[in-house]
Amino acid sequence: AKEPVRVLVTGAAGQIGYALVPMVARGIMLGADQPVILHMLDIPPAAEALNGVKMELVDAAFPLLKGVVATTDVVEACTGVNVAVMVGGFPRKEGMERKDVMSKNVSIYKSQASALEQHAAPNCKVLVVANPANTNALILKEFAPSIPAKNITCLTRLDHNRALGQISERLNVQVSDVKNVIIWGNHSSTQYPDVNHATVGDKPVRELVKDDEWLNGEFITTVQQRGAAIIKARKLSSALSAASAACDHIRDWVLGTPEGTWVSMGVYSDGSYNVPAGVIYSFPVTCKNGEWTIVQGLAIDEFSRKKLDLTGAELTEEKELAYSCLS
Ligand code: NDP
Repeated sequence: AKEPVRVLVTGAAGQIGYALVPMVARGIMLGADQPVILHMLDIPPAAEALNGVKMELVDAAFPLLKGVVATTDVVEACTGVNVAVMVGGFPRKEGMERKDVMSKNVSIYKSQASALEQHAAPNCKVLVVANPANTNALILKEFAPSIPAKNITCLTRLDHNRALGQISERLNVQVSDVKNVIIWGNHSSTQYPDVNHATVGDKPVRELVKDDEWLNGEFITTVQQRGAAIIKARKLSSALSAASAACDHIRDWVLGTPEGTWVSMGVYSDGSYNVPAGVIYSFPVTCKNGEWTIVQGLAIDEFSRKKLDLTGAELTEEKELAYSCLS
């Protein structure tokens, strides 16, 4: 039998956490033959709710779930974890300045970085979900210098999956037949959902859709604003799809992407495609043996170039804002 993998979920009493932990315990993240031990962290005001989630995990009698650690102690939560999904963060409240939200999250991610660095298992893989996801991940990377930069990522897979979903609805084809869309840049409204290399079967999506105006306009804004549309409809955020995307991200990273297919991940930029280096930027990546590689050599037209630059500039600005919160 396989050794259990320890999976940390922070903000585990929150909405995404509540959707995510049963998926992990059912093997959707790491495979149906992989036992797991869940580590759930939340803040003291959420301790009682967190204990309720733990009770439900016991009641669900998941065969793969070999243990649950539910705690408000960050060191206990991080100890020995192989995978860390960082969902906890300070939400933007009405009337709060962007800098105030950034400042709260910078201090959270700085302290969690130290705890992971000192107590997580070697080679722990980290996925940041909490917003601003790219910049929270960058702060985590900066304050955990002994964790390799390649192990620290942020979630843009939900945006990627939303793009697949929009194309599949438009063409009336199975979502599993749509391949190789790309989300470039920041998990924010400047992200660029790019279909220039996407296919259905062996045909380019652009040729099948035959409507560049839609692809360059409404398609992009629909993907960018999907989160807000779901909040409007549900009066709650898109926790189910965010949790599902987090599972997809980790599963493909650990188990590999299928041959000929790439996915989008926010990773530490080396300046590929002439975007800023030294920020967490979403690229098309393939994964093999537990490591991601940026897909190289894709043609970038003038329309795309502007969008890659715009979202890159926003990430540079967020990085500066985050650093100004540190001093
Ligand atoms: P959610 O579980 O709905 O969201 C958690 C984080 O994920 C938020 O930062 C949210 O960003 C982000 N996010 C990214 N993508 C999505 C998406 N598609 N849909 C929704 N959210 C997305 O928030 P809750 O408030 O329910 O739960 C947060 C938990 O974190 C609580 O249990 C709270 O106690 C805990 N927390 C922990 C802190 C800490 O560790 N120090 C500090 C504060 C809270 P956005 O804000 O933009 O919606």
